Amino acid sequence: MIPAAFEYIRAGSVDEAIALLERHGEDAKLLAGGHSIIPMMKLRLAAPATLIDIGEIPQLSSIAVDRNRISIGALTKHAALAASDALKSQAPALWDAANALGDPQVRNRGTIGGASAHGDPAADYPAVLHVLDATFTLVGKGGQRDVQAGEFFRGMFDTALGQTEVLTQIAFDAAPKSAYAKFDHPASHYAVVGAAVALTMNGGVIGSARVAVTGIGDAAFRAGAVEKALAGVDPTDLGALKAACAGAAAGFDARSDVFASGAYRAAMADVFVARAIAAAAAR
Ligand SMILES: Cc1cc2nc3c(=O)[nH]c(=O)nc-3n(C[C@H](O)[C@H](O)[C@H](O)COP(=O)(O)OP(=O)(O)OC[C@H]3O[C@@H](n4cnc5c(N)ncnc54)[C@H](O)[C@@H]3O)c2cc1C
Repeated sequence: MIPAAFEYIRAGSVDEAIALLERHGEDAKLLAGGHSIIPMMKLRLAAPATLIDIGEIPQLSSIAVDRNRISIGALTKHAALAASDALKSQAPALWDAANALGDPQVRNRGTIGGASAHGDPAADYPAVLHVLDATFTLVGKGGQRDVQAGEFFRGMFDTALGQTEVLTQIAFDAAPKSAYAKFDHPASHYAVVGAAVALTMNGGVIGSARVAVTGIGDAAFRAGAVEKALAGVDPTDLGALKAACAGAAAGFDARSDVFASGAYRAAMADVFVARAIAAAAAR
């Protein structure tokens, strides 16, 4: 569990981090909270020659609310999200995910930007950021570009980030009727299956629903058929809710491993989508 030797450089600004990425090329990696990249290096699944530490860049650690829009700096730690009253009321799905993520050490070191950039198929935030239709701001030598969640999460450990780009901010509109529920691995707390939902209500029934699932396939995905089936459903009618949530993972290749079969994961997706819907509707 000892990583290969590497050079460590601390960047004082985003511009400096980009310049260092340009200079050191493909063998360089950014270091934020270190709670994914360092374990991978210890397991020798990654062996970057250079680590560029962006963890102390102060401007990237903030939660800002401007009317209906919430902007989160990429270096904001899970613990700060978990403690945010603004998130709890304005985007409770993200607050749920931050509170259920890992353990206190992971929450005190890991960052939302690192968790997103890593692209882990069992990570919690990707499902939430899908239903919030979050905008990711990526900064590189040529300037900055904005990418929506649907394009950002591409596959297993694969995102829209270029080799020399830094993710600086994640922003989304408030979604007070949202929730995240997961069946977590008892040791790591990664999602065996995690479901995020964001609802609008029309009287006592669901007006519209955005639903995304993580832990099942190579990357989190929107459950389009379930979203359509949920329109008009009374979320307190458990029979109707269960029927609308059936097949949340249909059409996706559910992963089997030592912890859960693909069939079990797919069955749990329906259950946890329904739980998240009930929680969101009650908010
Ligand atoms: C024991 C344990 C339990 C965990 N449990 C969970 C869990 O339940 N749910 C869950 O979702 N996650 C879990 N995690 C992962 C945790 O959330 C990590 O903090 C997160 O995945 C990575 O964030 P980080 O800031 O530590 O990133 P790092 O490890 O520093 O970096 C991860 C990757 O992202 C890149 N990167 C980091 N920041 C940026 C940026 N701003 N721009 C571009 N690239 C960047 C790095 O180069 C690296 O490739 C767990 C981790 C551990 C060790």
